[in-house]
Amino acid sequence: MARELIDLADLDAVRVYVLPMRSRFRGIDYRTGVLLNGPAGWGEFCPFEDYSDAESVPWLTAALESCTVPWPEPVRQSVPVNCTVPAVDAATAHRVVTSSGCSTAKVKVAERGQTAADDVERVRAVRDALGLAGAIRVDANAAWDVDTAVTRIRELARAAGELEYVEQPCPTIDDLAEVRRRVDVRIAADESIRHADDPLRVAVAGAADVAVIKAAPLGGVHKALEVAEASGLPCVVSSAVETSVGLAAQLALAGTLPELPFACGLGTTALLDGDVVADSFVPVDGRLSVPRQAPAPDPTLVAAATPQARTQRRWLDRLQRVDALLREAAA
Ligand SMILES: [Mg+2]
Repeated sequence: MARELIDLADLDAVRVYVLPMRSRFRGIDYRTGVLLNGPAGWGEFCPFEDYSDAESVPWLTAALESCTVPWPEPVRQSVPVNCTVPAVDAATAHRVVTSSGCSTAKVKVAERGQTAADDVERVRAVRDALGLAGAIRVDANAAWDVDTAVTRIRELARAAGELEYVEQPCPTIDDLAEVRRRVDVRIAADESIRHADDPLRVAVAGAADVAVIKAAPLGGVHKALEVAEASGLPCVVSSAVETSVGLAAQLALAGTLPELPFACGLGTTALLDGDVVADSFVPVDGRLSVPRQAPAPDPTLVAAATPQARTQRRWLDRLQRVDALLREAAA
């Protein structure tokens, strides 16, 4: 969907934030980004620090979409969400699950510096906390080769009793397809969808049973809906660990998908120590409601989350560079 180019200078507000993570996640201890306010409301630009300017272009498209155009009409009022268990010890994992109120847990595995036994212990603790009726999925973030994936998935499936799916066990589409042939656990593609020029290839290659989609890296809610449809796979909407401002777009996406057979990975405000809105998206009975627009940041919370001038400058420069690339692409 084409977007009217908006001049960054025309935005009503541009605010850089930094929030600590409660546990190290994806190798980061802090989440940083920029909140933008335009005629349609607020958006969030928060590509991870290690993303290139080119990779960050869809993140800006998504943030500007939230600021400038309404999201599509949702087909449901609320969505089920999973809790996310970082690569923490078993006791902490147990606590994360019991305090979440969610009946589905996504467990991070294959963290660098940890062992297969650490993963098994964590998954056992999560099963104990969830009870037999709960669903457990694991995310390896492309860490394994095919043979390691097959061995680990079997071990983890035994420890869990049953696994709902394994997210991105290996990096390549061909590897995912081979693992999928060799294990009887569903395979979900995450990085493969996000980085693919053609998400359809994942489905055509028989590489996955489930597509994990995210509004920000796919260029916004409208674009992500197109990707979901093109994939032809059941979709799980998952967050990029945004504040509640960015999470609102993800919830809008989850609220609009025609089918939503699995819990979404959107219960992630618990990973952040704080938020920029007063009424944070915190799951109630394992569900989050679908907003019609992003919540407005609370000025006091934004002030408290404002980083040093140097960090602000770095992010505003990044925003300008990515905006220049976006204009080039649109020209
Ligand atoms: Mg993932």
